[in-house]
Amino acid sequence: MPRSAPARAPITSPAAATVFTTVLTQGPVSRVDVARRTGLSSAAVTKAARPFIEAGYLEELASEERTGPGAGRPANPLAIRSDREYFVGVKITADDLIGVVTDLRAGIQTSRHHPLRDHDVEHVVAALADLVGELLDEGYRDRAYSLGVAISGDVDRETGLVRYSPFLGWRDVPLAELLDEATGLKTTLENDVKALAVAEQWFGEGVGASSFALVTVGTGIGSALVVNGRLVSGAHGVAGEIGHVPISADGPVCHCGGTGCVEAIASTEAILAAAKEAAGEPGLTMDDAVARARGGDESLREVFAGAGHAIGLGLAALVNLFGPERVVVSGEGVATYDLFEDQIRRTFAVQAFGSAGRCGLVIRPLPFEEWARGAAAVAVQGLFVPDRL
Ligand SMILES: [Zn+2]
Repeated sequence: MPRSAPARAPITSPAAATVFTTVLTQGPVSRVDVARRTGLSSAAVTKAARPFIEAGYLEELASEERTGPGAGRPANPLAIRSDREYFVGVKITADDLIGVVTDLRAGIQTSRHHPLRDHDVEHVVAALADLVGELLDEGYRDRAYSLGVAISGDVDRETGLVRYSPFLGWRDVPLAELLDEATGLKTTLENDVKALAVAEQWFGEGVGASSFALVTVGTGIGSALVVNGRLVSGAHGVAGEIGHVPISADGPVCHCGGTGCVEAIASTEAILAAAKEAAGEPGLTMDDAVARARGGDESLREVFAGAGHAIGLGLAALVNLFGPERVVVSGEGVATYDLFEDQIRRTFAVQAFGSAGRCGLVIRPLPFEEWARGAAAVAVQGLFVPDRL
């Protein structure tokens, strides 16, 4: 497919990519430290950094007197110029499009929501192009060349194909190509949980960790695993399905066909079903269940604790199997995490095997813009990936 060649970061060699990524994710950092962290020679670092400085992507900060042992030579830290290029990220949900513009370090500059009235491919592409146009018109048009799109389901990043999206009812839609044409930006697609993991790996809790897991809790329960700095995609496209780890032989039947899956007990829908049963009120809403549990209703508190226990077991299984440095638990379901955080931590502490339990557990809510920010982080990462096949 013909495409214009926009001004891009001058990533012309593996050394250039390594140096730029190190400063992007860990900077400001001196050349000496870049050399130490990457194993490149100081001369190679200087050579690799020069084109980025000339193109305005990196800058040299004023020299700092070094202190401590070996002090004497001043160091000029290299820093990223975050506003050199902007990135658009969009998360597609069943009901709306959430879009953001971020800078090079995935810092959100602006955000917009658009309702999605129809799931027809043509309509979604047009609505998304409108949203991108409005975001760019806020003053980012001349410095934005890339669009990242996050969508749940089976997404092939290499070819830009949505293989299967259950909530849109799509199969094999060449969405990236359609969006390239509709927006004029270089589009990268990614599964939404993997996109969040990219943001975490480059600009969040995952920085400096060679392995970590991101677990999302909400309508579904998913995870993305990063091992030795790489996102695990699975030989058959499936990996990290913590939601379908079976934890109870006589538990509820899961929509996947299995029995006693974490998701069958701890998804938002499963929690609400259990709460209705515990309260004996078929009309109970989630908001009421949360309010009454917070107010001290013991039977409802037990429902949330049961979900926390299920998530804790799933996390222990994950950590016992691959031993990450850190696990981040996030998602819309975590907004009520005061009701299950204690139980997650207690169960995890009991079930994690030996020193696997030393893995740091970060539990925090996830605002919807974060999903779109994940999409933008995928677009930032797209700087380092050759154009689609
Ligand atoms: Zn299942």
